[in-house]
Amino acid sequence: MLARIKRFLGLEDKPKEQAKPIKPKEEESSQQEVEKVADKPKIGYFHLSGCTGDGIALTENYDILAELLTDMVDIVYGQTLVDVWYDDENNPYAIDDMPEMDLALVEGSVCLQDEHSIHELKKLREKAKLVCAFGSCAMNGCFTRYCRGGQQAQPKHEAFLPIGDIVQVDCTIPGCPVSPEIVAKVVVALINGDMDYLQPMLDMAGCTANCGCDLQKNIVNKSLCTGCGTCAMACQTRAIEMREGRPEVNIDRCIKCGICYTHCPRSWFPTEQINKDLGL
Ligand code: SF4
Ligand code: SF4
Repeated sequence: MLARIKRFLGLEDKPKEQAKPIKPKEEESSQQEVEKVADKPKIGYFHLSGCTGDGIALTENYDILAELLTDMVDIVYGQTLVDVWYDDENNPYAIDDMPEMDLALVEGSVCLQDEHSIHELKKLREKAKLVCAFGSCAMNGCFTRYCRGGQQAQPKHEAFLPIGDIVQVDCTIPGCPVSPEIVAKVVVALINGDMDYLQPMLDMAGCTANCGCDLQKNIVNKSLCTGCGTCAMACQTRAIEMREGRPEVNIDRCIKCGICYTHCPRSWFPTEQINKDLGL
């Protein structure tokens, strides 16, 4: 369980195994892809300065949710999905009893003025083998980038950072919110050690692109743009219009989710994987 991922990240010295071939499309279903879950991965779901949209996306996997929560994984920490967390207003150090886990899904950015959140984030980094920035707020700050404090009941809460600015992040699932399907696919890929599927999430662990401007700077200005329009389709606030075959960003509508950049086929172009999927 998770052995390939640990080896990939250098947590074990054994050589890398070849990833197993992708199954034909007609055989695909979230449940069928799981080989065998003899030892269920332990997962923690952490809610920092987020809106729970990513947690809701997880629960929208109706076809797989019951199996996911009972047979495929053990959720060992989480205030929303399960009533298992370690906090006590009379004992700020209760959180130190957090259990060890294989994967921490962290939703939301982290507020620098909130000691509890900082403590929880640092503690989960100690306890989790893999830390995943779950959604755009955790990955790049998203709309919490606009926070500047001054609001009741916590006017001093003014600085919100992506979790990668405080602790090391191993992988990321971008989205505002993430799509239900990608959550299910990532969990299944983790269980199966499917590195082909997980590679983009691992590559994006250090990605802080969070604005339509990143398209201009890293794609258009480098002559990489093909004018495909994927960025405009992916933007949920319709901040992007295609003008003369190139994206034009209305910055007043941009919520800094970074989805246009992570969906652009020229920001990460998986030629090998595409050829494999197409049988070429
Ligand atoms: S342009 Fe749209 S997709 Fe891109 S970062 Fe802004 S809101 Fe997100
Ligand atoms: S998704 Fe990328 S390649 Fe396609 S139009 Fe947008 S910037 Fe250009």
